[in-house]
Amino acid sequence: MRKKVIAGNWKMYKTQIEASEFLQGFMPHLEDTPPDREIILCVPYTDLFAMSQNLHGSSIRLGAQNIHWETVGAYTGEISAPMLTELGVRYVIVGHSERRQYFGETDETVNMRIKAAQNAGLTPILCVGETKQQRDMDETESIVYEQLQRGLMDVDQTNLIIAYEPIWAIGTGDTCAAKEANQVIGLIRGQLKNPDVPIQYGGSVKPDNVDEIMTQPEIDGALVGGASLQPNSFARIVNYQN
Ligand code: PEP
Repeated sequence: MRKKVIAGNWKMYKTQIEASEFLQGFMPHLEDTPPDREIILCVPYTDLFAMSQNLHGSSIRLGAQNIHWETVGAYTGEISAPMLTELGVRYVIVGHSERRQYFGETDETVNMRIKAAQNAGLTPILCVGETKQQRDMDETESIVYEQLQRGLMDVDQTNLIIAYEPIWAIGTGDTCAAKEANQVIGLIRGQLKNPDVPIQYGGSVKPDNVDEIMTQPEIDGALVGGASLQPNSFARIVNYQN
């Protein structure tokens, strides 16, 4: 059975103090969380050290939001795999649409970052998804296939998570209908060499829609932005009912 993976993406939110306050509110909700699900927090780099200490001994895994393909070098503002693994980071988001849109991330650099993560033993979470305009022009399938083909070129699919994140649903409150997300995720699975790769849905996942999303047979989890910032709402999401 494929593992269920719920990951919070904190983006550029929370100082170390705010991150610690979050954990104080969040951890007590995990007492009855079923063991069938992996919970990940992908936090800003400046929170990683404190979070790795605060999460020691807990079931929550630590994730980062990007990784450079080189291990060292003159790459101002970037972060490397050894810097992340030293802090106990196990997962890393790669190719988030905000990286593609605002920072010039391409499928080619995504591919290099994925390989660097895997070479260091990290699990990359590859984000793919179409814009509203592409969706309206019936291009969802071709866009997502291209992102997969280029992003996963020569990539080992045994240590990988994919997040289908329709861009028009990110941070907008406009969730993709659960059945539609299920259908696209089924198509994505059909393109993979390894059908056991967990595939998440991301885009305005909230406490009031997570149960329906997680009942879909192809959806193996969620990548959650805004609703992962509040302890109560993220707790309700990780404790989804099915
Ligand atoms: C995201 O940042 O990947 C995301 C899905 O954000 P939100 O849940 O806020 O739409």
